Amino acid sequence: MTQLEQAKKGIITSEMEAVAGREPLDAEIICGDVAAGRTVICKSTLHDCAPVAIGRGLKIKVNANIGTSNYSSNPDMELEKLRASIRYGADTVMDLSTGGDIRAMRRLIVGQSKVPVGTVPVYEAIVRCPDVAELGEDDFLDSIRTHIEDGVDFITVHCGVTRSCVPLLESRIMGVVSRGGSFLISWMLHHEKENPLYARYDEILEMAKKHDVVLSLGDGLRPGCLADASDQAQYAELKTLGELAARARAKDVQVMIEGPGHVPLHLIRENIELQKQYCDGAPFYVLGPLVTDCSPGYDHLTGAIGGALAAFYGADFLCYLTPKEHLGLPDIRDVIDGVVASKIAAHAADIARGIPGARDSDDAMSRARSNLDWEGMYRHAMNPEKARAMRKETGRDDAEVCTMCGDFCSAKINRECRTRYRR
Ligand code: SF4
Repeated sequence: MTQLEQAKKGIITSEMEAVAGREPLDAEIICGDVAAGRTVICKSTLHDCAPVAIGRGLKIKVNANIGTSNYSSNPDMELEKLRASIRYGADTVMDLSTGGDIRAMRRLIVGQSKVPVGTVPVYEAIVRCPDVAELGEDDFLDSIRTHIEDGVDFITVHCGVTRSCVPLLESRIMGVVSRGGSFLISWMLHHEKENPLYARYDEILEMAKKHDVVLSLGDGLRPGCLADASDQAQYAELKTLGELAARARAKDVQVMIEGPGHVPLHLIRENIELQKQYCDGAPFYVLGPLVTDCSPGYDHLTGAIGGALAAFYGADFLCYLTPKEHLGLPDIRDVIDGVVASKIAAHAADIARGIPGARDSDDAMSRARSNLDWEGMYRHAMNPEKARAMRKETGRDDAEVCTMCGDFCSAKINRECRTRYRR
């Protein structure tokens, strides 16, 4: 039985107990939220990993994308990215490989990952048969089946990209920026048929249910620039995703919804509220959102700004962006910077949402700063290695204070005042 099926019967599973130990809610409440479709528990029955819960009232989760491309395919490098992602706090990883032996890469990642793994099966169908004319409906479904049988815990499926959305894209600057979405549109136009992921959705539900794989309903029409944000195409797809989410729940399949994309700061709240409204509170997984289009090289920051706000308004799951976004396949350093940036966004939102204990590390850091306790500061830093290395770079890491204020260190003056005047 899936987590959802059991939750509907009021059964508290070992996975619910396990996630409750790391969350601010107890297993009974989590069970109720899973039953209502407001929380999902990511863990395939085929994958030996720690389950991760995403949804209402829980800590914000972070995903790191890794995987090869056909320009750069090095399995050892991808495994190193996997380890780095987990070390710096990613709650899940997605293997988006499109180069080399994709299936072998996926099996390696699933085999070595102790966190849930997600994939986008349509990529593999496209790589195996890049000519839309040759690609049949069954090829998409076969790819989904293979990914599920390989033990992935959640899959992105662009089921909401329907033929009726295509005319709505005319006025866009960026058109369709999702790889899966753009390929499916080209397939529909060529074959003059409906998206097979939509037309054969019930078969996908059967496959997902078999191993309790969470469906992440992809936003194939997500805006790829600020000018395209919150347009008719985006919201038409979102409405369809809401209908598909209801169908998934009725069949006991766990489901979450993917979101934008590029969204100006003032439209983020509206995006989150509409998603929750159309999709009856389903967990929301956002890519960024990026709040400006002109920051290549810094898009991990642009995404973290949008991510913090989105999470504060109710998004549940942040997909990281790296400094290489829009520029190339990330290397290890980019992956670490991306994970840390998203962790900062998630952490900031957890504090603002009043998650119990979320601010403990901040208070501990502040006490260490006040005491000029450098080891304490490293201990509570999100990236201790970087903090230590930066202080060392100054050449004065042996000093009690740092080179910013030197002898005029306010922390030191405060401490002296406290001792001298007992304030
Ligand atoms: S020198 Fe300035 S920046 Fe450095 S620890 Fe003291 S107060 Fe902080």
